[in-house]
Amino acid sequence: MNKLGASPRSGRPIETDVAIIGGGLLGCALAFKLARAGVDAVLLERGELNREASGTNAGSLHIQLLRPPGMEAAWLERFRPLVRLHVEAAKAWRSIEAEAEIAVGVRMHGGLFLAETDDERCLLEKKVAVECAEGLDTTLISGDEARAMCPLLAPSVIAADYCPDDGLANALLVAPALARRATDYGARIVTGHDVRAITVRGPNDFILETPQCGVRARRIVVAAGPWTGQITKMVGMDLPIGPNVLSMNVTEARPPELDLLIQHIGRRLTLKQTESGTYIVGGGWPGEYVATDNWKGTSVESLAGNMWAAAAVFPRLTRLRVLRTWAGLGANTPDWHPIIGEYAGAPGFHVLFAGLGFTLGLTCAQRMADMLIRPGSADADAAFAPARYIGCAVGRS
Ligand SMILES: Cc1cc2nc3c(=O)[nH]c(=O)nc-3n(C[C@H](O)[C@H](O)[C@H](O)COP(=O)(O)OP(=O)(O)OC[C@H]3O[C@@H](n4cnc5c(N)ncnc54)[C@H](O)[C@@H]3O)c2cc1C
Repeated sequence: MNKLGASPRSGRPIETDVAIIGGGLLGCALAFKLARAGVDAVLLERGELNREASGTNAGSLHIQLLRPPGMEAAWLERFRPLVRLHVEAAKAWRSIEAEAEIAVGVRMHGGLFLAETDDERCLLEKKVAVECAEGLDTTLISGDEARAMCPLLAPSVIAADYCPDDGLANALLVAPALARRATDYGARIVTGHDVRAITVRGPNDFILETPQCGVRARRIVVAAGPWTGQITKMVGMDLPIGPNVLSMNVTEARPPELDLLIQHIGRRLTLKQTESGTYIVGGGWPGEYVATDNWKGTSVESLAGNMWAAAAVFPRLTRLRVLRTWAGLGANTPDWHPIIGEYAGAPGFHVLFAGLGFTLGLTCAQRMADMLIRPGSADADAAFAPARYIGCAVGRS
């Protein structure tokens, strides 16, 4: 039970302080932070660790804001707390390899959000204004300044939002490395354990049931990505988390020639070169999903559209062959904000969710850990509280 991936054989309920449901980045990062602080934690993963979004994503560290669903004043105003989380995320990623004593390919050499039209440049101006007002280091630069940083950019680029903290990390490595460190500190991590039912015995007293065993926990954290809403329903909590299937493409390798993360304010595009020389190209192009067997597939339309969007601003890609394409299941909330906090309807029951969860995963896990390690001392940020969807405030038992 103490070893990564081992399964408990005993029929007796296992007792723990915190039961974490989900072995993606958020669950593994939380297990690490709790175990290191001496909190007893059991993580239950129904499949294998890091096999869903956390291990199939693009590995981009989007420290500057993505393009929000709306750029009007109301949306941008609502994004202020989120910008502050992005500032924390930059610090978290810069320090994680030293903090956890792991090597997971973190490279933060900056990134450019491109504009090719005057309208797009206006969007960037609004984005930069909100980012800078909340302490995020971003600057609006001209197309020529962008090309001075990245000579391979097309002449059509007329402006860019530059953020020196944007970057990437190896998504295949991060969550498993943190899980290993969590077990070093005493966390129990078990795979192949599908949480099928939760009984609320009273405040801070829960029984979780998997086909193999029961777990009695004082506190629960649901970190189950797109399946979070299915689990919160077990205690009567409805959350509007909507799934989205995204596809990714990888090209053949080139000598090192791009160390920036490239995005586009008007097109679905993220682009970067990995240490091995391949380009990872994505940006929100849809895939296909069959929920009954959790099957994800790519589409020719998305592959062609994504590579066209990339080659339009980075012509080098026109001559590169795509070697691999895949799809993963992500999810998001209607306001694009994470959910970090306790459910008032079942004291001790917590939710940890982020749509941009690779970038924000470490930070969200840290905030959740602070709430659990020193209950009542860490101020829950109302912008991220589950109560915003439920209409009731969290009270302590
Ligand atoms: C293709 C793609 C590209 C992306 N690119 C980026 C990017 O470049 N940068 C970025 O910041 N974000 C990106 N994202 C988003 C990011 O990957 C996710 O937000 C993040 O990985 C979510 O992590 P998680 O731990 O919350 O969820 P997940 O990684 O989905 O993990 C949830 C886990 O919960 C488990 N689980 C579910 N139900 C149960 C149950 N009943 N019992 C036990 N276990 C259960 C699942 O098996 C799964 O392992 C991308 C997403 C996709 C799909």
